[in-house]
Amino acid sequence: MSIDLESTVLERITPDEKPLISSEVNEIPPCEAGESCNLPTDIVLRSSDGIRFGAHSKNLEIYSDGFPIADSVARSTEDIILPEDSDVVLLLLRFMHHQPQPDLSLLASRLLIKFANAVEKYGVYSATGVYDQPFEVFLYAQRHGYSSIMDKAGKLAITQEPANFFAYAHSIGDTTWRDLAELETHNLPTKEVWEALRQYPDWPPIFGAWYLKREQMREAIFDALKNPSPVLHKGGLMHCADCQYPFLADVLGKMGTSIPSYKTFVQVIESCLPRLNGCTHCNIVVNNLIKSRMYTLDVIARKSLASYLDGDR
Ligand SMILES: [Zn+2]
Ligand SMILES: [Zn+2]
Repeated sequence: MSIDLESTVLERITPDEKPLISSEVNEIPPCEAGESCNLPTDIVLRSSDGIRFGAHSKNLEIYSDGFPIADSVARSTEDIILPEDSDVVLLLLRFMHHQPQPDLSLLASRLLIKFANAVEKYGVYSATGVYDQPFEVFLYAQRHGYSSIMDKAGKLAITQEPANFFAYAHSIGDTTWRDLAELETHNLPTKEVWEALRQYPDWPPIFGAWYLKREQMREAIFDALKNPSPVLHKGGLMHCADCQYPFLADVLGKMGTSIPSYKTFVQVIESCLPRLNGCTHCNIVVNNLIKSRMYTLDVIARKSLASYLDGDR
C-alpha cells in the first residue's frame, strides 16, 4: 500500500526536536519501532522508566491479544502506562509491524525473559521466536520465578531435546519434569539417553531404571512375535507357513536391532507387510498383534520411573 502518510508524520517532527518530557503529553511521538515506518501514530505507550513511544492502535489490535487498549481508550490522548521497561516496550512494538522480526537469539538473557513475559501477557503471537531456545528460556524462567513461561518453555524443551531435559530435571531432583520428559525418550537410541544422563554425577540409578523400562518394552514386543494368535486359514490350518513364516522372520530380524517402542514396532511391521503376499488371514493376525501391543506397550510406557527405581517392576 502506498498511502501518502508521510506529510502527516513529518508535521509531528519539529526540526529541532527536544527530548520528550511530560509537559508535552499531548504530542504523539513518531514510530521508532518500524523499519522506515510511515504509518501515523495515534497512541502513546509509556514505559516504566518514563519513555514515551508513539504507536499505532490498529497494529496493537492486529498483532496482540491482550494489549490494554479497549476501543474506548484508543482515541484517548492520555498515555498508556505500562509496567514494562523501555527496552521491552520497544521490542514489543517491533513485533507489531509487518517486517522481518528482530533476532531474539542476540538478546541478553535478562531482557529475553522480561520480553517473554510480556509476550505471554499481551499475547503477541508473532514473537514466538522467544521460545527458539526453550531449554535456556526454561532455565532463566526458573531462576527468576516466571512460572507460566517455565511451563511453556519446559514443554517445548521436552519435545526439542527430551534426553537433555530429562537428565537436567533428574539432576535438580524435579521428578514431575523428569517423568514428563522421560515419556518423550522412548523413541531415542539408548546411547543418546545415556550420554545425556552421564553429564550429571548421580546418573547410574536413573539410567538403570530407564533401561529396565526399555527392556520391559522389548520383552513385550518379542513375546507377542513368538506367539502370534492363530487365525483359522483355508483347509483348517492355524498358521500358514507360506506367508507368516517369512514375515515373522523379517520382523524379528529388524526388531532385534531396533528401538523397542510402539512407534518403531509399527514401522517395522509395516515395512514387512509385503511378505504376507496379500493373505487376508495373516493380515488379520498382524492387525491383532498391533492392537494388543498398542495397549501393552502403552501401559509400560506410562509406568513411572519411580516404580523401577524402587525395584518394583
Ligand atoms: Zn510503526
Ligand atoms: Zn496366510
